[in-house]
Amino acid sequence: MRLQGQRWRTLVSTVRLGRNEYRVVRPARPIGHAPLHEGYHGAQITVDKAAALTLGMAWSLAARSPHTIVYLPLRHNGVGCNIYGSGKEPPLDLVLLRHSLRFPVSRWKELRAKLGSGRPHTVTCRGLPQAADLGAVFAARYHREFKDILRHDITADTLFLVGSRTAFEVEGYALRELVEECPQHMHERPDAHCCAEISVDGLPQWLHVEYCRVHRVTAPAAL
Ligand SMILES: [Zn+2]
Ligand SMILES: [Zn+2]
Repeated sequence: MRLQGQRWRTLVSTVRLGRNEYRVVRPARPIGHAPLHEGYHGAQITVDKAAALTLGMAWSLAARSPHTIVYLPLRHNGVGCNIYGSGKEPPLDLVLLRHSLRFPVSRWKELRAKLGSGRPHTVTCRGLPQAADLGAVFAARYHREFKDILRHDITADTLFLVGSRTAFEVEGYALRELVEECPQHMHERPDAHCCAEISVDGLPQWLHVEYCRVHRVTAPAAL
């Protein structure tokens, strides 16, 4: 399935905090299978195909939208498939945002409480780059002055990933492969480990997004 051109039904809220106004986009429908916890790799999200697609669309939006906070509520999706987890780790939500927003994550809990019901809005996904498009950026990332890295914070039961457009794109190509290429691979080899390893400053290894070994092919409606 191609990420580019997919339509994502969202809810948009505009929230005022003090002198600033923030635009928050979240999915209109709950994400069925994407438990997220802090663990062995750094952070682990265990997805099915629908959740991988939503994450890819959210990532693409965050990369291209300097004024949008992209919020994926994942804590209450009721799925216990926490690969590499003991089951005791607190579940987390995920928030993606551009660093130029300078949003103080310490105020997220307050902002989250003010989201209200939101306005329906459909986002047409602009896709994520292929690894082949990123050669110059990959080369630059090994230089000390390379600034386009994703940073993280964990507060209010939420993992925040914060970076520039390039930072989201340079890591997002792995999510594009997860959405567009892994399904065929899993069809051919149902037991294959299919994941995206997303480098995030300060995490032991990655944000590791892996297809659930049980529900990788099952449509969420059948869960
Ligand atoms: Zn992996
Ligand atoms: Zn599962």
